Amino acid sequence: MTKAIYPGSFDPMTAGHIGIAERAARLFETLFICVYDTPSKNLLFTTAERVEFAQDATQHISNVTVTTYSRELTVNLARKLDATAMVRGLRSGADFVTELELAQMNRRLAPEIESVFIMTSAEHQFLSSSLLKEAASLGGDISALVTPAIAEALQKKLLS
Ligand code: ADP
Repeated sequence: MTKAIYPGSFDPMTAGHIGIAERAARLFETLFICVYDTPSKNLLFTTAERVEFAQDATQHISNVTVTTYSRELTVNLARKLDATAMVRGLRSGADFVTELELAQMNRRLAPEIESVFIMTSAEHQFLSSSLLKEAASLGGDISALVTPAIAEALQKKLLS
């Protein structure tokens, strides 16, 4: 098992995502962070911005490559990239329920792609991109939870 994908919206990438990427990168030769361009949620950042942030936030991990994909089965993306695993992060029981459903569907569609779950660290357990954006929009100090470039971009978009 050598290549894995880590798909998500990453709107924007948080310290929680970075932690999962660092740990997954130790398990696989190559980790593709795959930024989905049209998730069914309201986005704050464009695809180009989310990709740029993800690149900036993971530049210290030598075996990570950031890529993007649109309206395509995630398992097909994995196949195209020759990846045999799909990494997802787990924070809570609620994550488990949704991730289990997704994993079962993905397994039905592509049994050769293994879903791999990494438990978040205690300090990132309650961190989500949406909560981060809410806190930032109300002027909260989120600087410890994102890279400086992302903190600046959040301030610009949400507070100006
Ligand atoms: P998606 O729209 O696919 O859920 P997200 O960017 O919200 O995209 O999350 C991508 C992946 O990262 C998901 O597996 C999610 O559970 C995980 N994740 C998000 N925040 C954290 C965190 N704080 N700690 C660990 N994993 C996280």
